[in-house]
Amino acid sequence: MDFRQIRLFCFDMDGTIYLDRTPIPGAIELLNLLQERSIPFIYLTNNSSKSVKDYMKKLQEIGFPATEENFYTSGQAAGVYLTAHFPGVPCYVMGTDSLKSELKTYGVDVREEVSPEIGVFLAGYDTQLTYQKLTDACELLRRDVPFLATNPDWVCPMGKDEYLPDCGLMCQMLEVSTGKKPKFIGKPEPDMILQLLERFGVEKDACCMVGDRMYTDIASGLNAGVKTVCVLSGEVTKEEVLAAERQPDLLLDSVKDIYLALTDKQ
Ligand SMILES: [Mg+2]
Repeated sequence: MDFRQIRLFCFDMDGTIYLDRTPIPGAIELLNLLQERSIPFIYLTNNSSKSVKDYMKKLQEIGFPATEENFYTSGQAAGVYLTAHFPGVPCYVMGTDSLKSELKTYGVDVREEVSPEIGVFLAGYDTQLTYQKLTDACELLRRDVPFLATNPDWVCPMGKDEYLPDCGLMCQMLEVSTGKKPKFIGKPEPDMILQLLERFGVEKDACCMVGDRMYTDIASGLNAGVKTVCVLSGEVTKEEVLAAERQPDLLLDSVKDIYLALTDKQ
């Protein structure tokens, strides 16, 4: 792959550019280089519980170039999706306060109580989940209100082998209770990347998705039809990648190899 032809880089975060709070060697250099060369880059995350400001603060603290425009969360993508497919339709949101305020910036009519005019239901990674919200969700889904969800992850890694229930698992509860399945918006669905291609006016061939998970990051890139780079600095092993049915365009030890390729040091 000729990285010099890439006009939009999408990076997964944990396992790809940092591990917990430690930058992957070469990652800060790569992001600074893209910044210097004015090549757009986006930090892509399925986590809809945190706001862009939370992520921006974390990345700036550990040394990465980061402004609000450099982030795209599944919560933001849900805002774009709702505006496009359900314009003006009242939406019950089972999500955090930060997700609700993010959706409002897209003009979504966010509702927190069940009423007859609600025309769509969105589930996020709700770290403020209550039984009342689950009850409301079941009532709406039984009424056949369209069911959307920000991300299919079952668990969210908290470091040191600790995992907490994520949006996908919350949707499992609702699915078992009501028999309704959501349309997911985050990775591995292509929606987030497709929305970014449109925003930046970039062709599929000139966009590259970089990540450490085959079943989310690489799958989303393949589903969107863009270039994919799998890195071995995080979750997946080389053996697992080679055994996978769908292959990334490129397998690299880490993002440092992209930096070296762009600076002719390889
Ligand atoms: Mg990752």
